[in-house]
Amino acid sequence: MYMLNAGESMKYKLKVDNLSFYYEDKKILEEINFEVYPGEFIGILGPNGSGKTTLLKNLNRWLLPQKGCIFIDNENIKKLSIQSLAKIIATVPQDTQINYDFTVEEIVLMGRTPYLKALEREKEEDYFIAEKSMEAVGVYNLKHNFITHLSGGERQRVLIARALTQQPKILLLDEPVSHLDIKYKWEVMGILKDISKTRNIIIIATLHDINIASTFCDKILILKEGKIFKFGTPKEVITAENIKEVFGVESFVSGFTEKGAPLLITYGKVIENQGKKSPMKRVHVICGGGTGEKVMMLLEKKNYDISCGVLNIGDSDWKIAKALNIQVVEETPFSPISEKNAKLNLELMMKADAIILVNTPFGSGNLKNLQLLEKLIEKEKKIFIVEETPIKERDFTSGKAEEIYNRMKEKSILVNSVEELNYYF
Ligand code: ADP
Repeated sequence: MYMLNAGESMKYKLKVDNLSFYYEDKKILEEINFEVYPGEFIGILGPNGSGKTTLLKNLNRWLLPQKGCIFIDNENIKKLSIQSLAKIIATVPQDTQINYDFTVEEIVLMGRTPYLKALEREKEEDYFIAEKSMEAVGVYNLKHNFITHLSGGERQRVLIARALTQQPKILLLDEPVSHLDIKYKWEVMGILKDISKTRNIIIIATLHDINIASTFCDKILILKEGKIFKFGTPKEVITAENIKEVFGVESFVSGFTEKGAPLLITYGKVIENQGKKSPMKRVHVICGGGTGEKVMMLLEKKNYDISCGVLNIGDSDWKIAKALNIQVVEETPFSPISEKNAKLNLELMMKADAIILVNTPFGSGNLKNLQLLEKLIEKEKKIFIVEETPIKERDFTSGKAEEIYNRMKEKSILVNSVEELNYYF
C-alpha cells in the first residue's frame, strides 16, 4: 500500500512568527503571529484588501516577508528547496481558469510533478495517488472528461484533487467557494473538512461567507487592515460585535452551529458615526429587577437625559432610577402596567432619541413594555437590545414575549453586553 499522508503528517505544525509584508513601501501585513496544528481547518476572513491573499502567498512562499519567518515543523521555509516545499504545501489559487483540453486525470496527475525527475513519466504509484485524490473529492467518475466541460463546482473539486496529489501537509485555498452556488459551497467545504481530518493535514482557506466559516472551520483568523484582529474558534470570534467592527455592518444571531458557534444574519446597515460620539441626547431604558443598573449608571456618567419605565414602585431598578434622579413611569407594586402608565411610557419613549432594552425577564406584568417598544419600530427610533442571555430563558409569558422580542431583534441594534453600548453612547 502507498502512503496517503495519514500519521506521518502529525508533526507538521505551522508557525507564523512576527511576519510583516510590504508592497514597496506600503505595509500590507503587520506583525502576524499564529500557530496551526495538523488536522485543523482554518478560515481566513476579512474585508476586501485586508491582506488575506497576501497572507496565503507568504505562507506558500510566492511572496517573501520583509520581516518575520514561517516555520513548518520548526524549519524555516526559506531554507527549503522549491521541490521540498511543493511536497509540503499545495495551493489552490483563486479562480483558476484552465482553457486547454486536458482530462481530469491529466490535471490531477500534474500534482505529482514535485516527485518526478525531469522528463520522468508517472509510475503506478503516482496513478494510485491521483486516483485516491479524485475519489476523496468525488470526481473519479469524471476522470476521462475534459476539464473545460465541467461545471464550476466540479472544476474546483478537480483542482483540490490536483493539490491533494501533491500529498501536502498543508493545503492553502484562496476563496475556494466564493463563485460557487450554495449547494456546491456546502459540498466543497464538507469535503475539505473531511480531508483535514482523515488525512490529518492543515487546511487554510480564505473565505467570504461568515456562516460557512463558522460552520466548517475549527478556527477563524480575522484580518483587519493587515493585522490579526481575532484568531480563535468560531464560537470565540464570530460575534455581532466583531463583525461590526471589522466589516462595518450590523448583524444578529439567527441560530447556532452544532458546536455552538453563532450563525449571523447581516443586514448591511453601515454604522453611522463610526468611532465618533453619537448625537443622541435623550435615552429611554426598559429594564426591571436590577437589570438596568449598569446601563443607567453608564448613561448617567455620560450625561444623557435618561427616562425609564414602566417600573413597579420598590423594584430594584426603580430604586436606582430614583437615586439617580431619573424620570421614571411608576406602577403600583405587584400590579400589571395600566393603560394610563403605558400611555405615559410611550410618550417618554417618543421623546427619546434612543431606547435601550436591557436583558430583563418578561412576565405578564411587564409584557406591555415590550408591546410598547414594538410600536416604535415604524417611528424609526434607534432601538438597542442588550442580550446577555437568550430570551427563552427569561420569558415567562408562554412565548408571547419571545415572539415580539425576535421581531424586534431584526429591527434593532443588538449588543451582547452593556459594555458594548460604550461604542454608541
Ligand atoms: P484581500 O485578499 O484581503 O482582498 P489582498 O491581499 O489581495 O487582500 O490585498 C491587500 C492589499 O495589497 C490591497 O490594498 C491591495 O491593493 C494590495 N496589493 C495586492 N497586490 C498588490 C501588488 N501586486 N502590488 C501592490 N499592492 C498590491
